[in-house]
Amino acid sequence: MQHFPIYLDLADARVAIAGNGAFALAKLRLLARTPARITLFAPAPEADLESAAADFNVALVRHEAGAAHLAQVRLAYAAHGDAVADARFARLARAAGALVNVVDNLEASDYITPAIVDRAPVTVAIGTEGAAPVLARAIKTDLEDRLPQGVGPLARAGKLFRPRAELLPQGRRRRDFWADYYFRTGPQVLAEAGEELLDHALHALLEQHLNPGDEPGRVDLVGAGPGDPDLMTLKARRLLDAADVVIHDRLVPQAILDLARREALFVPVGKQGFGPSTPQDDINAAMIAHAQAGARVVRLKGGDASVFARLDEETDALSAAGIAWAVTPGITAASAAAAAIGRSLTRRGRNADLRLMTAHDMQGYAEHDWQTLAMPGAVAAVYMGKKAARFLQGRLMMHGAAPTTPVTLVENAARPDQRIIASRLDRLAADAAQLTGPAILLFGLGPARAEVHLPQLIEDLA
Ligand code: SAH
Repeated sequence: MQHFPIYLDLADARVAIAGNGAFALAKLRLLARTPARITLFAPAPEADLESAAADFNVALVRHEAGAAHLAQVRLAYAAHGDAVADARFARLARAAGALVNVVDNLEASDYITPAIVDRAPVTVAIGTEGAAPVLARAIKTDLEDRLPQGVGPLARAGKLFRPRAELLPQGRRRRDFWADYYFRTGPQVLAEAGEELLDHALHALLEQHLNPGDEPGRVDLVGAGPGDPDLMTLKARRLLDAADVVIHDRLVPQAILDLARREALFVPVGKQGFGPSTPQDDINAAMIAHAQAGARVVRLKGGDASVFARLDEETDALSAAGIAWAVTPGITAASAAAAAIGRSLTRRGRNADLRLMTAHDMQGYAEHDWQTLAMPGAVAAVYMGKKAARFLQGRLMMHGAAPTTPVTLVENAARPDQRIIASRLDRLAADAAQLTGPAILLFGLGPARAEVHLPQLIEDLA
């Protein structure tokens, strides 16, 4: 740690920025968020810079800085983008006792400005000592996404409430209280009622947490996406993180379950193709029992919660039992499969509608409007289609679909073992017989580029 991160109080401090153009403007914008008294030295300021200086009420001096101008400056930014001008300014500022940053010049700088996530009073500074600015920016973007915009006001109100929160025993219960405040109740109150009501909400929330028996349980029905944890929504991740009980489909991979707290109770349920399955009534009963015991239940489903996922059966049962529930959407397998083959599911002039269909239902094979599906340009994403491939092929050919119609099989979409098989209607049954994992049949679509299947390639070479 050659560069030591600290937080410097800039209330009433003098800061000088010398230079022009984008460099100076970027520093000006950043420093304008502090209470510093800023002087900008720019002999011929560009229009953007000049108007920013006016907007931020910054003293604009239209000549280069001289020694006399730099007395009592704490921080000085050399932002000319010109080595000679920067060096001259740096020398003068240092002589006046200021710490100097020469923009984009690590060696010539006394300090460097980190990438900053600003939710004041909460700020995160990210530095790589000049090693990897791209990495710093990526970390920043990631944190920006994770820290809700309201974190600043939330933290201000939370800080004042800390002594009262000590009524809760230290450890899990106090942590849960703060997590509830920062990630659920707080943001909600902030959005719906405003900052003034946060204190009131904190008191009410504390009451609830002091009497946990009174807190009603609830069920969130959450789409986990196709299997890649990166393809989950932020909301899904937060809900998972707060869950006491996770009732999950067998399709949901371990990497996603690992995002829940380790102490959470995991209940695997659901159907596995034509294999063993948990009766729907048992799933409903489990959700209801845990919610009635006061647990936060996440009912985690593969893909999207509303696509071939028996959502209505479950929410009807919850409503009948008087349990609060909400649905969080996820990326459905058809979207993941389309992304895998680089094709759009709809296209002007080709198909103005798209079917999400399954080729078998509870009664067996499912009948469809084969006539329209068999027309040129039709596109359908077929779920649970492995075993029904032969049936599909027969019905579509019988209704006049071209034997050469492209069908792409995407197995384990968005997972490490993803496999793409570019097939055609007349070869569909044979190709589908190779599938072993969950797969989507994209009827009417061929892959945008030829897939190189690595394990197969290695096998072929050997
Ligand atoms: N709710 C889920 C679908 C559940 S039905 C969703 O929105 O995706 C189960 C079927 O979804 C599987 O038989 C398979 O056809 C498809 N499926 C789910 N995950 C998949 C994946 N990662 N790759 C390919 N198909 C998948």
